[in-house]
Amino acid sequence: MIKACEICGAAFEARGSAKVCSDKCRREKERERKRRYREENREKEAKRHRRYYEENREKEAKRHRRHYEENREKVRERQRRYREENREKEAKRHRRYYEENPEKVRESQRRRYEENREKVLESQRRYREENREKEAKRHRRYYEENPEKVRERKRRYYEEQRLTRDFFRRLAMADAIRKAM
Ligand SMILES: [Zn+2]
Repeated sequence: MIKACEICGAAFEARGSAKVCSDKCRREKERERKRRYREENREKEAKRHRRYYEENREKEAKRHRRHYEENREKVRERQRRYREENREKEAKRHRRYYEENPEKVRESQRRRYEENREKVLESQRRYREENREKEAKRHRRYYEENPEKVRERKRRYYEEQRLTRDFFRRLAMADAIRKAM
């Protein structure tokens, strides 16, 4: 019986239920079958993982956090390497995310800024407290070594204060005049 080969399309004399023309096409057909199997099972597996994750969100989040904490250095290193190797792609991804979620991005920047600001202020405060003596000494020494500079700075400071005061005084005066007119 003459058939068309499933793989290469050539006509061939088929014995029994043969579907391919040659050993070469048989191997190709087998490769094709395996590839399809992997493909179908990858999708199935991915689906299974997704479902599992959705049903165990809390547990999984905890597990990820724990994994992260136990492998902080390793994870960071991997993330850093990934970012470096995918700089362009990441930049594009960030741009796109920003364009699609401007509100979210601004909100998270604001939050990060505030958290960071508090941390910085806190660490400055702690530093001053822990180094009160040292700081006082440092100031005294600076003053002894640079009396002119310190006096000059004080003079400038008072001058600025005076100018600011005058400015607001004039402003208030102008305001009063306008109201009286
Ligand atoms: Zn063939």
